Amino acid sequence: MSECLFCEIIAHRVPATFVAEDELVVAIRDVNPQAPTHVLILPREHIASAADLTPAHDPLWGRMLHVAQQIAIDEGVAGSGYRLVTNVGPAAGQTVAHLHLHLLGGRQMTWPPG
Ligand code: 5GP
Ligand code: ZN
Repeated sequence: MSECLFCEIIAHRVPATFVAEDELVVAIRDVNPQAPTHVLILPREHIASAADLTPAHDPLWGRMLHVAQQIAIDEGVAGSGYRLVTNVGPAAGQTVAHLHLHLLGGRQMTWPPG
């Protein structure tokens, strides 16, 4: 049993609603959605946060963005717009220490964020 919740989800040992899955990344619906569309895109590899990405991860990060693009199309929010965000560390509000990209859409976002 991994100590990382998202590693457990990726291994299908903890249930989640998957919306996309390939050899590098998985995408799941957030259990506590903050917008009509709230999907998390996560690498299969355990990386604690964006602060731990190295140049070797460039293809992985690129894949995460392209998967996000496709999900935005599939969810019908690509035309209206959406937000991609990744929290890094406690001050940003990161609560799960496994890199993930939030895709939020389906409502008007505000700026600055909370
Ligand atoms: P963070 O706060 O680290 O940027 O984002 C973590 C996200 O994971 C939160 O939006 C939270 O709702 C979501 N989350 C926490 N536990 C679970 C879970 O067990 N399943 C799913 N699908 N999402 C979760
Ligand atoms: Zn993990």
